[in-house]
Amino acid sequence: MTSTAAPAGFWQPDDECMHREELEQLQLERLQATVSRVARNVPFYRDAFDARRFDPDQLRSLHDLRQLPFTTKGDLADAYPYGLLAVPLREVVRLHGTGGTGSSGVVMGYTRNDIKTWANLMARMLVAEGVTKDDVLQITFDYGLFTGAFGVHFAAERLGASVIPISSGNTKRQIKIMVDYKTTTLVSTPSYALHLIEAMRAAKLNLNTLSLRRVLVGGEPFSEETRRLIQEALHVTVTDNYAVSELLGPGVAGECLERNGLHLNEDHFIPEIVDPVTLAPLPPGAEGELVLTSLTKEAFPLIRFRTRDLTTLDPAPCPCGRTSARIRRMEARSDDMLIIKGVNVFPAQVEAVLHDVDGTGPRYQLVVERREALDVATVLVEVSQSVFFDEIKLQAGYRDMLRHRLASDLGVHFEVKLVERSTMDAALGKGKVVDMRKR
Ligand code: ZN
Repeated sequence: MTSTAAPAGFWQPDDECMHREELEQLQLERLQATVSRVARNVPFYRDAFDARRFDPDQLRSLHDLRQLPFTTKGDLADAYPYGLLAVPLREVVRLHGTGGTGSSGVVMGYTRNDIKTWANLMARMLVAEGVTKDDVLQITFDYGLFTGAFGVHFAAERLGASVIPISSGNTKRQIKIMVDYKTTTLVSTPSYALHLIEAMRAAKLNLNTLSLRRVLVGGEPFSEETRRLIQEALHVTVTDNYAVSELLGPGVAGECLERNGLHLNEDHFIPEIVDPVTLAPLPPGAEGELVLTSLTKEAFPLIRFRTRDLTTLDPAPCPCGRTSARIRRMEARSDDMLIIKGVNVFPAQVEAVLHDVDGTGPRYQLVVERREALDVATVLVEVSQSVFFDEIKLQAGYRDMLRHRLASDLGVHFEVKLVERSTMDAALGKGKVVDMRKR
């Protein structure tokens, strides 16, 4: 377990390098305990289990997880603020939250044990990414209800590293502190790291004089090209971190220095990959939506939580020695907000317009690309064969109406392409939202 005598490169080596059979046995025991606890303490789950005639005692193998209901972001929003807490509020020592002014969002509670577990899980990631107690971390995530900053902060302190809780913004001050305090590890979104590099170049700062050794990024999808730019400009390693605020925050999964997939803390979360439309479980290696079940959370345990993130799961051993499965880096999100020509666009808004116009809510795909430095957004809409072949005029009218409605409701001009079923089947292989600007 955690001790100063742990082999270099691991924070909790016994847990991180467990044999597969041992891991699965532990997962099953923890799952059984979690499921009976939520059946006892969370009316939402008790009702959902009852509706399926599922008795927690019949959970005999990890395969039985498939009998359990999914938990969606909508379920969490419906339970706002405390409907899904599995412990009395007096046992909660910290509350984080998601959601802006437009929606109430989700409130996540943590017991004292949850906070300790969180720090250990994120400390595993920090160590995997090369951080030691000799490092100085500059955390540029926003300190607040958002889980990112605090998640990394307490883990780094637990590890014994020096933390600079500078929070977000004020780029000039960030740069001065990075130089003066001899920051070795920058914690940032990839886009803010790029912004800092530009600002340092504009200030004619010699980047070779920095003490930086690594940049730990998270909070948004990014391309390998972005990683290369940051690594080369700053002479650092860049490692990716995957956070799920509703389940924990950062510390769910992260890259080791192999930078070939993110190790998922499987002794605390069971991952599944499902078809995002049919919700059927998919075999290892197939791309689908990541679904996670928490195994050790006391205050806010979630069963089969649909993350909406599309990825694959690789159970093959990693050269670093960790035995946990790795998820592929996220390139696309099925419900992510897009910024198109400076306007925030949610795919759900596009869906609402389509549903309104057509009454059926046809299948669609949203493609955003950049042409000559300008964003171009296209919606592919599936239309029935009769519309597609018979009535050219009808087709043009429908397309114009959609274009007009999208522009007036969303404030962004969209190209509209009508396609047949088979074309849509093929297109959706890339996901409902394809943002080519990130490639
Ligand atoms: Zn590894």
